[in-house]
Amino acid sequence: MAVLMPKPSAAVLGRRAAIVSALKAIVPGEGVVDAANEMRVFESDGLTAYRQMPLVVVLPETVDQVAAVLRYCHAERIPVVPRGSGTSLSGGALPLEDGVLLVLSRFNRVLDIDFDNRCAVVQPGVTNLGITRAVEHRGFYYAPDPSSQIACSIGGNVAENSGGVHSLKYGLTANNVLGIEFVTIEGEVIRLGGKHLDSEGYDLLGLMTGSEGLLGVVTEVTVRILQAPETARAVLIGFPSSEQAGAAVAAIIAEGIIPGGMEMMDRPAIHAAEDFVHAGYPRDVEALLIVELDGPKAEVDHLLAAVERISHTHGCASAKVSQSDEERAAFWAGRKAAFPAVGRISPDYYCMDGTIPRKELPKVLAGMKDLSVKHGLRVANVFHAGDGNLHPLILYDANKPGELESAEEFGNDILRLCVAVGGVLTGEHGVGVEKRDLMPEMFSDDDLKHQQRVKCAFDSEHLLNPGKVFPLLHRCAELGRMHVHKGQVAFPDLPRF
Ligand SMILES: Cc1cc2nc3c(=O)[nH]c(=O)nc-3n(C[C@H](O)[C@H](O)[C@H](O)COP(=O)(O)OP(=O)(O)OC[C@H]3O[C@@H](n4cnc5c(N)ncnc54)[C@H](O)[C@@H]3O)c2cc1C
Repeated sequence: MAVLMPKPSAAVLGRRAAIVSALKAIVPGEGVVDAANEMRVFESDGLTAYRQMPLVVVLPETVDQVAAVLRYCHAERIPVVPRGSGTSLSGGALPLEDGVLLVLSRFNRVLDIDFDNRCAVVQPGVTNLGITRAVEHRGFYYAPDPSSQIACSIGGNVAENSGGVHSLKYGLTANNVLGIEFVTIEGEVIRLGGKHLDSEGYDLLGLMTGSEGLLGVVTEVTVRILQAPETARAVLIGFPSSEQAGAAVAAIIAEGIIPGGMEMMDRPAIHAAEDFVHAGYPRDVEALLIVELDGPKAEVDHLLAAVERISHTHGCASAKVSQSDEERAAFWAGRKAAFPAVGRISPDYYCMDGTIPRKELPKVLAGMKDLSVKHGLRVANVFHAGDGNLHPLILYDANKPGELESAEEFGNDILRLCVAVGGVLTGEHGVGVEKRDLMPEMFSDDDLKHQQRVKCAFDSEHLLNPGKVFPLLHRCAELGRMHVHKGQVAFPDLPRF
């Protein structure tokens, strides 16, 4: 493993048998997995370059069990890594050798659908798409739609503040979650928000959303559900260059149009997707925009005409409007399958996730071309153009010595470029282990210490998902807060990584 993780505690490793039997007493039946061959499936998440077998896997079914497991781990100073479906692309759910992997997939029930209040209460293991499936019979849906929506859990979405094609108009997870229940590392069950729109006091719900499993384990989520729009139509617009497509994106937004989705793909991604799903994409263009307009029919027609006009002003080569819901779905099918499609043209790919101010798109795309030459690797670009969230896919072959390292360095350079133009290290995939060591590119030491003081307030012994997000672990005492347990100083052999 190239990324340095906290040194496993010999004391915890030496007590494995006792820990497993204590956990089996808390979660009986098949809720504890400790055989190596059965744990293998959990050794990695979507960032498959990194693998680590956990100490033990626990799959609780009730909030009481979650609380009891966390209370036990806190008392015994055992790290805990929460996991939903394991689709994280930043290594957020990467296990620890001396850590319990707490998997929430058995929390898979929709608890309450409240159409009058336009919300649903679900357990964290329900998949993102599962929420829409549960409410679509009444014409409703859950708006944030990561491409992984068929598999990823809503608990993981909350932890990563996930987004998708519809986030440009309808917001990220943070804008669509009304309340959560979570359990602290000390086993306290806390409720934030609910079916109502706002709460007084600090915005702890906002703090928990995107906290990457470092502050608590989410055990229930109340989400906003929306009525599906009357009409939705998509238009495929081909451009002779990525720079022209990028300029058209900025002009569409500048004109005050907020599409339901506005995605962009470059030539390698267009060809890979077209070969894979035959979505009807033009092959003779350098960049493709997929723009979806939704709302009342008259408004959609008006906005479609405006988008086409702006695109022609920016030199588009072709524009094709969907004529049916089936055709619209086909347009999106290519985009949604773009990652696996790129997987067919390269033995391996590394998906990056940075966000930039929209107007910097042409500059960053040009910069990426130079970096591609510098690192000797190809890159395919697929991204949420409307909100400036880039997903460059760096193509490499892990079997060729040094290519993984080159791909990672290429990725780091792309993220540095994003920060340099006023952007951020991540749009929706989280920091995890992947971008952890780049955090100082964006935050000063004081910024990072301040963020860690928040972590200390929730988890003073750094037991929840340690080794993720923060490049350098500070003792809570160093940060002005000391929590001594049974006379032992937390983290005596403090890992510095
Ligand atoms: C092909 C593919 C496409 C993708 N497309 C998108 C996309 O379009 N947009 C996007 O935003 N993401 C995308 N992702 C990334 C990923 O699907 C999201 O980050 C998703 O939210 C992760 O959910 P999960 O249930 O798999 O979480 P996991 O991978 O299991 O965990 C992710 C993080 O959440 C924490 N966590 C999980 N459950 C809980 C819980 N109940 N309580 C506390 N912490 C928890 C974990 O500790 C970890 O830090 C994609 C991934 C893949 C593989």
